[in-house]
Amino acid sequence: VRVASIADLRGILSQHRAAGKTISFVPTMGALHDGHRSCIEIAGKHGDILLVSIYVNPAQFGPGEDYEKYPRNLEADVELCRRLSCDIVFTPEDREMYPVPQNAWVTVDGLTQPLCGRNRPGHFRGVTTVVAKLFNIVNPDVAVFGQKDAQQALVIREMVRRLDFPVRLILSPTIREADGLAVSSRNKYLSGAERGKAAAVHQSLQAGRKLLETGERDAVAVTRCVTDHLLANGIDHIEYAELLAADDLSQLNQVRGKVILAVAIKLGKTRLIDNIVLTVEDAGPVEEAMLFS
Ligand code: AMP
Repeated sequence: VRVASIADLRGILSQHRAAGKTISFVPTMGALHDGHRSCIEIAGKHGDILLVSIYVNPAQFGPGEDYEKYPRNLEADVELCRRLSCDIVFTPEDREMYPVPQNAWVTVDGLTQPLCGRNRPGHFRGVTTVVAKLFNIVNPDVAVFGQKDAQQALVIREMVRRLDFPVRLILSPTIREADGLAVSSRNKYLSGAERGKAAAVHQSLQAGRKLLETGERDAVAVTRCVTDHLLANGIDHIEYAELLAADDLSQLNQVRGKVILAVAIKLGKTRLIDNIVLTVEDAGPVEEAMLFS
């Protein structure tokens, strides 16, 4: 069923809860693709009632970002949710989510500062506020997020921990196109030529991983390798290429333990992010890993 009102959704969910059902939840901004599909399929395995929200959250877009032109495809999205056996699709309007100019916010300090925090001020505050609202509306047992947005997942985990939301977070691995490009709603913005270049984003991360496999443990050397790969493939607008500790995004000099290698670049007007999470020991293979489980 498709529901647009908070009151109606709460009514339906309270009936399910009274019947002893658990609720699993996937928040999305729609324009659904295989990354969302993966999150939805995982959620389906972890609860009785599967709920997907589709809402393009204005609060997480900065001025001059792509809020107006963000792809919207509500009818097709609802149909896909139905095919994926979703029980409930929540499709609120702006006036339902933000009936007055928003004046109450949820913020996470620290983790929101590095990486995307530097180029998108206010973005994570918009994310944590809408996710907190959705968690309060849905009260899910389980919520699934994608590792593609690794910093977002860490920020939400911190919010859940520090504000005692009674929800279990589960991650989906990053779903990629055949050439390695992480699937994203924003890939639609790319011209043919830009789409060709975009494969270098994931390749650059793999180049960094290969350097670690040769025994390199200097974080700067690894990120320089990533940057060089991007530049050599015609991607010259690099917002960041960083290698950080995967649990708290702290800086590392020597690479050790579970780390995240993350990049943000722009191709024309389109901003793309990607990351790989790696477990690095003093010797031996460098394996890809989940950020948390
Ligand atoms: P969005 O609609 O972009 O807000 O994304 C909704 C959820 O899908 C978030 O938890 C994302 O991290 C996740 N997601 C987006 N792209 C991918 C992908 N390529 N692989 C896995 N999860 C993804």
